[in-house]
Amino acid sequence: MKNHVNIPIFIPHLGCKNMCVFCNQRTISGVCEFDISNVRRIIDDALATVRDGTEVEIAFFGGSFTGIDYNLMISLLEIAYEYIKCGKVTSVRCSTRPDYINEDILTVLKKYGVRAIELGLQSVDEDVLNKTKRGHSFLDEDRACRMIIDYGFELVGQMMIGLPGSTLESEIKTCDFIISKSAKGARIYPTVVFRNTELCELAMAGKYTPLQLEDAIERSAVIYERFRKAHVNVIRVGLCASENLADESTYYGGPNHPALGELVINRVYFNIIKEEVSKLNPKKGDNLLIFVSKGSLSKAIGQNKINKKKLTDIFSPQDISFIETENLNELEVSVGLRERK
Ligand code: SF4
Repeated sequence: MKNHVNIPIFIPHLGCKNMCVFCNQRTISGVCEFDISNVRRIIDDALATVRDGTEVEIAFFGGSFTGIDYNLMISLLEIAYEYIKCGKVTSVRCSTRPDYINEDILTVLKKYGVRAIELGLQSVDEDVLNKTKRGHSFLDEDRACRMIIDYGFELVGQMMIGLPGSTLESEIKTCDFIISKSAKGARIYPTVVFRNTELCELAMAGKYTPLQLEDAIERSAVIYERFRKAHVNVIRVGLCASENLADESTYYGGPNHPALGELVINRVYFNIIKEEVSKLNPKKGDNLLIFVSKGSLSKAIGQNKINKKKLTDIFSPQDISFIETENLNELEVSVGLRERK
């Protein structure tokens, strides 16, 4: 399989007339101003670090790309398309909102080599959409997903965990909706509270409780595993380290951990292993054998061996051995027992 690299171009909030309660896009992208004259330099700098044979995609992320000024959007697409025509870049992806998808937009995106559209759905629950002031309905989401697929784009669904009014049940519904729309990929964002947002005001007034890290890990792991079973590629869990999470002046509360994605994968492994071992109904003092794919040992054992410790507490084995094998893929687990002699 070819290596794949995204060259992200952040379009801060320019495209969005909304102000979702959780969003301070200028804070998230770390960019206040946008200067189109920098775009070629960003792309060239990134290309200079890419090895031959790598599949390169220009990614217009940040605000709502298809909602920015039309001429600016075309100018950006034209720049990207120049790189596609000379073979330096394979394709383009962009992120946007469901209500900024229509036939004209999709026709233009197709013309300029856009391959994938990442749709910020966040939730399919109308109550959550209202409480977060998303400014669109579930029907907008349904229509946009259908159109994106009908036009032959790759769909990536972005969803959030722990929004106001959201529960694990509603998050599972959002996950299942994304799966049902034949999405190729998904991003899972546990809700982080940034300063200068309405969500921060709600949190300070005691009207919203930010997710604890542990809840964010468990809920994200449940959603991750659901996507995995449906063969939807989870591209990312949590915001990037560059997204000002460490900065006290922008971050207020919520699950803020530099390795959140890793912790979620550790938890997915734990949940799978626990389920598989339970089926074996082991006796106290048995030896547990846990087989995982090559390179997955540390993810399966967990940070600070947390998974091993928890499995020991639950099943009281004499010993647990984690063994790598060529015969399994990532996040596949096989378990066995060796009875105590
Ligand atoms: S739609 Fe996106 S960019 Fe616009 S306010 Fe909401 S989260 Fe921010």
